[in-house]
Amino acid sequence: MKTAVTICSLAMLVSCRQTVVENAEKTMGTNVEKTDAEWKAQLTPMQYRVLRKAGTERAGTGALLHNKQAGTYTCAGCGAELFASGEKYESGCGWPSFYQTSHASNIAERVDSSVGMRRTEVLCSNCGGHLGHVFEDGPQPTGQRYCINSASLGFKEEDRISRQAQRSELRARRRASGQGAHRE
Ligand code: FE
Repeated sequence: MKTAVTICSLAMLVSCRQTVVENAEKTMGTNVEKTDAEWKAQLTPMQYRVLRKAGTERAGTGALLHNKQAGTYTCAGCGAELFASGEKYESGCGWPSFYQTSHASNIAERVDSSVGMRRTEVLCSNCGGHLGHVFEDGPQPTGQRYCINSASLGFKEEDRISRQAQRSELRARRRASGQGAHRE
């Protein structure tokens, strides 16, 4: 029984990876059409170098490397949601690391044979921006390590979003009660 469950889990992982690769072939970079000059104007020099020129930021320097806030990691190029904060872990490699993505449709992968190595490049499927690479040395249950440049990421803090919603609800209530008192 245990063996069957393991085989089933492996099959699901393989099938998930196939979907991601197929997604890469079908949609990569087709949703956001921008000229190189437009990308340059929109992004910081480091974001441009990483996202548009497949560069790599220096290990240990990324602003989001040790971020532990609850929220969602997004593409710094187009805002597509890429990873949940619960999927991040401290790998010690010097770049933000994730053991899985709950936004697989926004992640594309392709073989990268540059620098004399065969690696799997990770890209944003919405704008085609380079994010980093995925390796098979991550923690269980996936065994994967999405090694992502901080420069290619944005971050939406969960608390800030809920605090903003609470504040606007409070303002709306005050307005409603104020108007009510005025009418009396
Ligand atoms: Fe993107």
